[in-house]
Amino acid sequence: MTTELGSATDPRPTLAVWKFASCDGCQLTLLDCEDELLGLTDRVRIEHFLEMTSAEGAGGERARLDGRGPYDLSLVEGSITTAEDAERIQHVRRISRYLVTIGACATAGGIQALRNFADVDEFIAAVYARPEYISTLETSTAISAHVPVDLELRGCPIDRRQLLEVITAYLTGRKPRIPGHSVCFECKRRGTTCITVAHGIPCLGPVTHAGCGAICPAYGRGCYGCFGPSSQPNLRSMLAQLRHDGMSEQDIQRVFRTFNAASPEHAPVPDLAAEEQERPPNTTETHPERPA
Ligand code: SF4
Ligand code: SF4
Repeated sequence: MTTELGSATDPRPTLAVWKFASCDGCQLTLLDCEDELLGLTDRVRIEHFLEMTSAEGAGGERARLDGRGPYDLSLVEGSITTAEDAERIQHVRRISRYLVTIGACATAGGIQALRNFADVDEFIAAVYARPEYISTLETSTAISAHVPVDLELRGCPIDRRQLLEVITAYLTGRKPRIPGHSVCFECKRRGTTCITVAHGIPCLGPVTHAGCGAICPAYGRGCYGCFGPSSQPNLRSMLAQLRHDGMSEQDIQRVFRTFNAASPEHAPVPDLAAEEQERPPNTTETHPERPA
């Protein structure tokens, strides 16, 4: 993969933004970069971004794009939930020099991956008046399950500072500085008292990827994991702590399946929960007393 971007006629590198099954919230994060957007367009040519135009949707996208590209950087939002999209992402990969997935849908199947744990026909019958018009796959999967991905940017939605860091890093030919550490680090940085230690509030901060600036704990609410798994999350300790703080097995399963349901890092949670339920009481991890 070459690092030379742009073309002979216009030295600006090209950017394309693609949508798959999603709510568009992550694409809106790019439009929310109001203060930086004009500066960005001086440096990069935004060649394909349906959210920003009045052009037709993804249905006609394939025909219009045949023969166009390649694009230096593709940002991909959304998960793969239809046979057509499983084909379209192959095309996007072929015409993209770098491909970055943005958001929980694209990196972990998103909320729609709850279908992976149930009968999708039951959902379709419950939601749509005419289920016979719906053609969908049994599962919702991350983009990386279908094509090689250069970087996964987490969040639901993604954080604009992290998005700008990724774009500028690729444009300048350096590695993006997106740390894999947890929300706990961000709490410490902003001086937030740990709500679990101080008040016994269940919080997924220790196993959740940083990026939001630890918003929820700063307002006295436990993190519910919308940024997905941090690198090397210690799920076993997390489960023990959540139980200690009063969460039921059902609530634990729910909180891990909310935004990043198909995340492979979260996959052991139901197994671990069942396994630990069967452990004799004297092998359960202990925790220091919290102040009352
Ligand atoms: S990750 Fe969240 S904000 Fe982004 S497209 Fe999916 S549902 Fe919307
Ligand atoms: S749920 Fe967690 S990751 Fe999401 S905004 Fe709140 S603190 Fe951040």
